[in-house]
Amino acid sequence: MDYTDIYNDYPELREFEERRARRTSPAPRRKRRKTGNGAKLLTVMVLIALAASLMALVFSLVSPDKTVVFAADGSAVEISAAQVDKYLAEGYYASFADLAPITMYAGDGSVITARAGDRAALEKKGYSTDMTAAYTNMYDDGGTTLYVPNSMVDNYKANGWHDKLSDIITKLYKSDGSTLSVPKAQAAAYIEQGWTDRLLKAAKKMTGPNGEEKTVFNDDVNSYIDRGWTVVKRVIDPDQPLVALTFDDGPGKFTDELLDCLEANNSAATFFVLGQLVQTYPDTVKRADKIGCEIANHTWDHLNATSAGAAAAAESVQKTSKAVEELLGKGTALYRPCYGAYNGDTLAEVGLPAIMWSIDTLDWKTRDADSTFSKVQSDVYDGAIILMHDIHQPTVEAAKRIIPYLVDEGYQLVTVSELLEYRKGGAEAGKVYFDDKE
Ligand SMILES: [Zn+2]
Repeated sequence: MDYTDIYNDYPELREFEERRARRTSPAPRRKRRKTGNGAKLLTVMVLIALAASLMALVFSLVSPDKTVVFAADGSAVEISAAQVDKYLAEGYYASFADLAPITMYAGDGSVITARAGDRAALEKKGYSTDMTAAYTNMYDDGGTTLYVPNSMVDNYKANGWHDKLSDIITKLYKSDGSTLSVPKAQAAAYIEQGWTDRLLKAAKKMTGPNGEEKTVFNDDVNSYIDRGWTVVKRVIDPDQPLVALTFDDGPGKFTDELLDCLEANNSAATFFVLGQLVQTYPDTVKRADKIGCEIANHTWDHLNATSAGAAAAAESVQKTSKAVEELLGKGTALYRPCYGAYNGDTLAEVGLPAIMWSIDTLDWKTRDADSTFSKVQSDVYDGAIILMHDIHQPTVEAAKRIIPYLVDEGYQLVTVSELLEYRKGGAEAGKVYFDDKE
């Protein structure tokens, strides 16, 4: 068989055969040459000289024992590895990248240009490459913004600046659902043009057919009602203004009229009742409780706790609480000291949170509805506890104006327990409260 033809047709086969032949045949032996000792020595010396010159060349390129540091002016200095720490301590830099200029900021307002290699040391001294870490954005009431070094923030605050944007911004609403955030200083002008800063003036809380809750802007309320939604009667949104109206010394013959008004406005109040009158007006007390008002304790017969003594005060409070409990199935949780008179002993002995007030309408003194209304109108604020007396007819007349007025202003009229629950997480026995603040 003539393989030549096959190889011509399949050149790769020929290659394969040749490679196989090479692998299997023994390697050719080198011929040993016999040389003289002199020649051998010369060869070794030449080789050593060659190696030495080669090593010198390699050393001059990458010396394993030498390294380079950089001076601040950018020049390179070759030193031995053992000297590195000494040079770095003297202000040299380990890498060229360390020479790159960086800007650093301190809380006292100083700004420095440094080398990247100095960054860690400067950070220990309070500098930062992050300007926002050393400065604070501050705002004045007109909306002007300034970037102020942290150390000066308190000075600016003392001069009426704010470090939180939310401090100077008011969110405004319209009944069609539009919202707008404006500097507080400009809010009044917007409110005159029909905006409001009280969400619950522009919207209502509604409940859907499946119990879902939603804040619905007034313009949309009717379409929600058409789809089976209802307006939630009593709304308590702790993020919106709350006010606690309180009525002392009753109930009385005008109290029911007051309850009518509260009910019509989906509002509640707290009645610090006298125990002896609970027995005179049991239905009024029951109705007040039923519409969400709070029945609280003002002793049995308007006892002055500090002159009568702690034991007598406690007894009078307990007797009143028992009378309320017989009527409502629950006693009183809050106590208002008559004449605002209390001391450590009476508070401890009575053992209930003591509720004072932050706005005194002086209704008992003026007996004038206009005066009582104006006092509330001018002094009301979010979190206030307002003192009135429902045994006086002018007070009830004033309350019938105060209640819709406050609701219209976006206040939620809540009980004292609700106010303290939402704003302070509850009321503590023996502690005195004037409003929702400390
Ligand atoms: Zn009283």
